[in-house]
Amino acid sequence: MPLPDFVTLFPVSTPTLLPAVATNLYLIAGGRRAVLVDAGFSDPPSLAPVVEAVRNRNLDIAGILLTHYHPDHAAGAGYLSNLWNCPVYVHPAEAEHLRETIPASVLRPELVEGQVLAVGDLAVTVVETPGHTRGHVSFWIPDAGVLFCGDVVLGAGTTWIGPPDGHLRTYLDTLRRLRDMSLNTLAPGHGPIVDNPGERILYYIEHRLERENQILELLRTGPKRVRELLRAIYDGQVPPSARWVAERTILGHLIKLEEEGRIRRIAGEGPQKSLADAGRSGRELEDWVHTVSFGLS
Ligand SMILES: [Zn+2]
Repeated sequence: MPLPDFVTLFPVSTPTLLPAVATNLYLIAGGRRAVLVDAGFSDPPSLAPVVEAVRNRNLDIAGILLTHYHPDHAAGAGYLSNLWNCPVYVHPAEAEHLRETIPASVLRPELVEGQVLAVGDLAVTVVETPGHTRGHVSFWIPDAGVLFCGDVVLGAGTTWIGPPDGHLRTYLDTLRRLRDMSLNTLAPGHGPIVDNPGERILYYIEHRLERENQILELLRTGPKRVRELLRAIYDGQVPPSARWVAERTILGHLIKLEEEGRIRRIAGEGPQKSLADAGRSGRELEDWVHTVSFGLS
């Protein structure tokens, strides 16, 4: 199903993870009152089409709604909120990452599950969809069956779930929850509109479980480090600039498997903290990638 006519999509160019080169911004207008879902990057020329549309249609922007804090979705919010003199709404768990780029006077870390935002004659419901980040939210318009889902499901390819922001078990729970909603349309943060949400969500779940099985299969022949798993799974397909993404994807799987008691770290090696508590520092995560071996429980 196409987007309902009260929604306008603006794909704006952003520095994001390839193959995507743009982030989708959605202008939702209930009459003259409107909100913008996600704000793109802090690059005013890329945002000009949105600014122009709001001006031409004489819209009154009630707020900018952020799905999550990643810069390709949120970094433009400071500029736009200043221009439109409106607040920026986000889930409380994302706010700490935004304090430097969005003034406290306009930042509203208030979005929580079930909250209904009135946008003119429309009602937009907040759905918590954690996993890609801790406080990722989606926006749901039940009458139209459309969910603005940020980076939970993309229009092309798969999304990235890796530490420290991403948590795979939480993410899979989110996917299962979306699978059970009556969705007509997914409006993703990158790529084309998804008009077969059920199929696409199932594919996402299966893709993760396939990768997990592949990792378990590799560990069956003996303990391995992340680097070795990377080589076996991606076999030279990962360009050096994307290697960290692939490493952390594998680490994300290992965290899930360790939490489920299905794999273990080889004693005496690496940091002693649990993998899930490995913290937010890139350095610590690097240690996991290079020094720790994992084996089946
Ligand atoms: Zn993201």
